[in-house]
Formats: sequence, structure tokens, C-alpha cells
Amino acid sequence: MKKKAFKLIDLVRPNVLKLKPYASARDDFKDFNEDFVFIDANENPNNNGINRYPDPNQTELKNILAKIKNIPTENILLGNGSDEVLDLIFRAFCEPGKDSVMVNPPTYGMYEVLANMNNVACKKVHLTSDFELNTSGIIAETDVNTKVLFICSPNNPTGNLLQKEAILELIENGNALVVIDEAYIDFTSAESWSKEINNYPNLIVTQTLSKAYGMAGIRLGICYANSEIISVLKKIKMPYNVNVLTQQKAIEFLRKDKRVTKDVADILQNRNILVNALKKIPFVIKVFPSDANFLLVKVDDANSRYNQLAELGIVVRNRTKEPLCENCLRFTVGTASENKKLIEALKALK
Ligand SMILES: *Cc1c(COP(=O)(O)O)cnc(C)c1O
Repeated sequence: MKKKAFKLIDLVRPNVLKLKPYASARDDFKDFNEDFVFIDANENPNNNGINRYPDPNQTELKNILAKIKNIPTENILLGNGSDEVLDLIFRAFCEPGKDSVMVNPPTYGMYEVLANMNNVACKKVHLTSDFELNTSGIIAETDVNTKVLFICSPNNPTGNLLQKEAILELIENGNALVVIDEAYIDFTSAESWSKEINNYPNLIVTQTLSKAYGMAGIRLGICYANSEIISVLKKIKMPYNVNVLTQQKAIEFLRKDKRVTKDVADILQNRNILVNALKKIPFVIKVFPSDANFLLVKVDDANSRYNQLAELGIVVRNRTKEPLCENCLRFTVGTASENKKLIEALKALK
């Protein structure tokens, strides 16, 4: 069967196509002039640093990100965490009660939660036993109403980068949007798919400042896509979704660019130490290879090991109920001393 030419308009929900975004008076005065009198938005006029609404376009922050990531600002959309960005994708393209999305468990749980929140069916095709994409299974399960395919690479909770060829096959296969969630990309030396957004009309890439960048507390998610997709998402985003404090902190941290590289190098070094120590624990059955800042570890009995660790004040993630993850725990790589505590605790368990 010959593939239909991809047209984004065919995927956008009709109400979104028709919708006129909320416009604030401030949108008409983008070239902010300190001397202007702003009496358009009913703010308290006394300057306390946060009395003004945030820049709805996050211009300064986007300019910095554009430089760091080498992507033009017109290809960037920012959200209150990448979770908001993912939600915007549902709301722009998936008609509740009619459309569906595709996920590949075991993977990040929010895709399914967001599908349920939006009343959108969530199709599932499990990863293969070596945690790779089952491309033929995915293609077989995809139909005309499957609007979005979520691919998480490096994948959470398995930790591995997914094969490039398989991802490419899925991008090129159908008319669905392909979202590649790169929350952990900064821990790998792999090239980001964000470089490809103008080569594939259906490609969306998400990243976050919550993991490698060490800013989970400010909630800043990043979406890269061609400008047509970005303008659809912009229509439905809340005007002030990224608050003033978040924009300020992100700008401040991103200007000290060296920090991330050093943090990542430390975390990767500590990850290797942790892997070697875990392999010596008698009840550890397997430490899965990781391209991220966490390890999926198969133990003899995940539920009881989870409880034993919790009693010692060590909180880990129990993934035993996830497909292909029977008796698996997920450990985030902590500081050197936290990792040491974990290993000492594991060694002492009966
Ligand atoms: C942690 C995580 C996120 C969450 O990102 P936020 O920007 O904090 O919302 C997204 N995707 C995956 C796979 C994650 O593990």
C-alpha cells in the first residue's frame, strides 16, 4: 500500500484548527521598552521582582537554549515540565473517545496516564525481550486513528538507548506523529533526534531540565519540532505556562554551562562504581546496561528487597509489576556517599 503524503492538518483536532489563541496586550509589544507604562494587565504596579506576568514567549530563555542546543527558536516550545508538553500533544492531535496513541511498555508511565486523562485509547506493544522496539508489531497495531507514537530513548525504566534504525523505520512508516522522549539524552554521547526535525514532518522531540541539568524543581520541559507543529501547540498552550521564577533560574543556570558536563561525568563515573558493586551482591541476578542515570536491577525478590531497603530509609523504585521487569528494582545513581549507603545496606541484607 502506498503511503499517503503526510499533512499535519489531517492530524490536528478540528476544534484546535479553528481555535484563536488567547492574546494579551503584551503580545503586541514584544520589543519591551523599560520606559513603557504597562497598565494593560491589572498587575500590581509596585516592583517586587515578580509583580509582572511572565513573558509568554520566553524569548530570552529560548535564545539561550537555541544557542546551547543549536536549534532555532521557532522550533522550540517550552512547558511546565516535559509532562506539560506531552499533554499539549494529546490535546492538539487526539480526539477524545476516537483517536489512540501507541506506547511500548515497559516505559515511562505518564504517556498512559495522559492518555487516560484525555480519554484517548492507549495501544501497547511490548518491547522485545532485549528491550528493543518491536517495529513490525507496532506497525501492525497502528491504524488511521493512531495519532501519536511515543518512543522513550534512553528508555525509562530499562535504561537503554533504542536502536536508531528501528526508530527511523517507525518515523518513515506511517502518518502518525512520532514523539521521541529524550529526558535522559544528556547522559549519552548519542546524537539527539532534535537535529532531524526538519527532515521529518511528523517528528517531535522532547527534553527536560529535570534530569541531567539538575533543575527538577523549576519544571521546565522542552519540545523541538518543525515550525508548523510548534505553531499548532502554541495555539493551545496556556499563555503564562512558564512562570517568572522558572525562566529566571533556567537562564541563570544555563549561563553556567560547564556545570552540566561535570555533573554528568560524575554521575556516569558513580554509575560504573555502582554497577561493579551491585554485581557482587549475592541476590542480584542481573544489572542491565544503562545509558541513563539509573540502573534496572533484577534481584531474587523485588517486593521483599524493596521493603527491606525502605525500612532502612532507602527509597528505590519497584518495577516488578511492569512487563519484562519481573523482580526488577530501579536505582537512581545518587551521590558517591548515597551509593555507598545503598551498597552497604544491600550487603547487610539477609
Ligand atoms: C523524568 C521523565 C520525564 C519528566 O520530565 P519533566 O520535564 O520533569 O516533566 C519525562 N520523560 C521521561 C522518560 C522521564 O523519565
